[in-house]
Amino acid sequence: MRKNRVLVTGGAGFLGSHLCDRLIESGNDVICVDNLFTGSKDNIRHLLDNPYFEFIRHDVTQPIFVECDQIYNLACPASPIQYQRDPIYTTKTSIYGAFNALGLAKRTGARILQSSTSEVYGDPECNPQPESYRGRVNTIGPRSCYDEGKRVAETLFFDYHRQHGVDIKVMRIFNTYGPRMDIGDGRVVSNFIVQALRGQDITIYGDGSQTRSFCYVDDLIEGMIRLMNSREGFTGPVNIGNPGEFTIKQLAEMVVELTGTNSKIIYEDLPVDDPTQRKPDITLAKKELNWEPTVALRDGLQKTIDYFKGVI
Ligand code: NAD
Ligand code: UDP
Repeated sequence: MRKNRVLVTGGAGFLGSHLCDRLIESGNDVICVDNLFTGSKDNIRHLLDNPYFEFIRHDVTQPIFVECDQIYNLACPASPIQYQRDPIYTTKTSIYGAFNALGLAKRTGARILQSSTSEVYGDPECNPQPESYRGRVNTIGPRSCYDEGKRVAETLFFDYHRQHGVDIKVMRIFNTYGPRMDIGDGRVVSNFIVQALRGQDITIYGDGSQTRSFCYVDDLIEGMIRLMNSREGFTGPVNIGNPGEFTIKQLAEMVVELTGTNSKIIYEDLPVDDPTQRKPDITLAKKELNWEPTVALRDGLQKTIDYFKGVI
């Protein structure tokens, strides 16, 4: 007898596929819904023969009818180059995807978790960012499709909760990295590692003084599962990320050191609206979920480098 029937939208993506692994390992019946816009069957190939795992190729901008006890709503491209490829579609995925997932939760009574993002804070004026910070987001820039789409999705989650009593959990994810990031995904960790392993120039955008906090994927998934199974009535939003803060230059130097590459570090233009700093305040996650990250950046990078050595 399996524990829960769990629907994971975006389950063939980077985070979604790790989540599916963990859910299957802990005895759940998993339905993975994905249109493979940025995800890949390679990420879930090892699960496809498992009788407790089902893959449904489906676009979340359209309604879906399945029966389930829990819904993790992850479908949405997450890397700037991917979400800016078709920005209108990104907004549709966030907003229609939220409507459809929430409608399903309302009908089935399933508990539903939203993978929101630190991007709801925009280019923040305070550091670290607590959940109470309301953000500084540009409504009309190239990142807005993602940031504002995620903000509206949060609004929809709380309105379905207040208006229809839907059991919601909202998680604000900070930059996460690890095995199964797509080689061409464009995010900084995968770019730097792939460039270093190929002996290509390592591209820092801007002067490299902007900061990010990098969470290893296993830590993130642990936080996500704890949030889903947290006490009744705790909705979040809750920050999940690693509070260790590094400049992009420090990250590049660490990748150079760990790979032993001869690659040169070069500097390119900083993209529009690139946030200057980001670091989660995880006080709430510690208190409510008894969660904090355990993998140091150096160790997580080493595991990620080992993974990329096997795929490039
Ligand atoms: P990803 O691009 O690897 O995964 C997203 C998945 O959603 C892919 O498999 C993609 O094919 C699928 N998808 C996209 N649009 C879809 C649609 N219309 N219908 C069905 N499936 C669709 O990205 P990820 O890093 O795994 O991110 C997963 C979630 O976590 C996203 O919602 C993202 O916004 C959020 N998040 C991630 C990070 C991070 O650092 N990885 C940070 C903040 C938030
Ligand atoms: N970045 C960089 N070189 C790259 C890719 C990204 O210097 O090859 C920078 C980017 O400008 C940003 C930071 O690294 O300041 C994190 O970028 P990413 O796209 O990973 O995530 P986000 O900007 O959404 O935090």
